[in-house]
Amino acid sequence: MILTGEGGERERAALAKLAHSRHFAGMDEQKPGVPQQLEPLVARVLADNPSPFTFTGTQTHLVGTTDLAVIDPGPDDPEHIEALIAAIAGRPVTAIVITHTHRDHSPGSRPLAAATGAPIVGCAPLALDDLGPRADASFDADYVPDRVLAEGESVSGNGWTLAAIATPGHTSNHLAFALPETNALFSGDHVMGWSTTIVSPPDGDMAAYMQSLAKLQARTGDRIYYPAHGDPVENPQRLVRGLIGHRKQREGQILRLLDADPRTIPAMVEKMYVGIDPRLFPAAERSVLAHLYELRDRGVVTEDGDLWRKG
Ligand SMILES: [Zn+2]
Repeated sequence: MILTGEGGERERAALAKLAHSRHFAGMDEQKPGVPQQLEPLVARVLADNPSPFTFTGTQTHLVGTTDLAVIDPGPDDPEHIEALIAAIAGRPVTAIVITHTHRDHSPGSRPLAAATGAPIVGCAPLALDDLGPRADASFDADYVPDRVLAEGESVSGNGWTLAAIATPGHTSNHLAFALPETNALFSGDHVMGWSTTIVSPPDGDMAAYMQSLAKLQARTGDRIYYPAHGDPVENPQRLVRGLIGHRKQREGQILRLLDADPRTIPAMVEKMYVGIDPRLFPAAERSVLAHLYELRDRGVVTEDGDLWRKG
């Protein structure tokens, strides 16, 4: 994350440089509800839910030509569902595919399933009971998939296959989907085209997120990522390498701050995120907490009330 304010603008520009070799034509004029064909097999429709966390809004992807998969139908917004139904244009929907259960991604699956009769396929619901209170207000607790896809399992239609890649970290249930027919990958919120992702404990997990980045880094055949927020990523390997480096840098900052003195998280955020939009402070605090948990689990730092210290 971290995109508005002076420091955020710098960070965003650096990420954009890593992600794109050339500007994706016409992306700036993206309008909510108006489908854009990204390649013959892939179109996207923007939902009208812009925010400091969603950028221009959630992007729903339509995959296929004669029959379709609809990836991340977005919030339960009647206008967006209507726009999706118009873009589907009477073609059969083979699957409504979900990357993770944040409220800007999965709630639209219910009205879209009701309208099209398509099954809801993809990530697991959050394991709320056995893992304790992992969910907060940003989670869609009403998500009920017809079929959960495990790592490597896929759903397919005429000329397309979507293969699930477990990418926990942003959420514990996050899946990315590979489209082997064109070497594209739908990266959900794990890797985005406009900012780094939010990793908020307890459901968000920094160690898992880093492992999921390494997993994508090893997929050297991926040509392009289509994220749920932001432009297509035309240099996915370069961006993933940059994101790994960015998190290592953040970790280094935290360790240097703690070298001097034990500190609270707000005190660290103030030094680490200079110039960001104050509305993003809580999210920045969650990311720092995610780093600290990861460092704690490795035995590098300890928690002492509100204070964190080295050793
Ligand atoms: Zn999300």
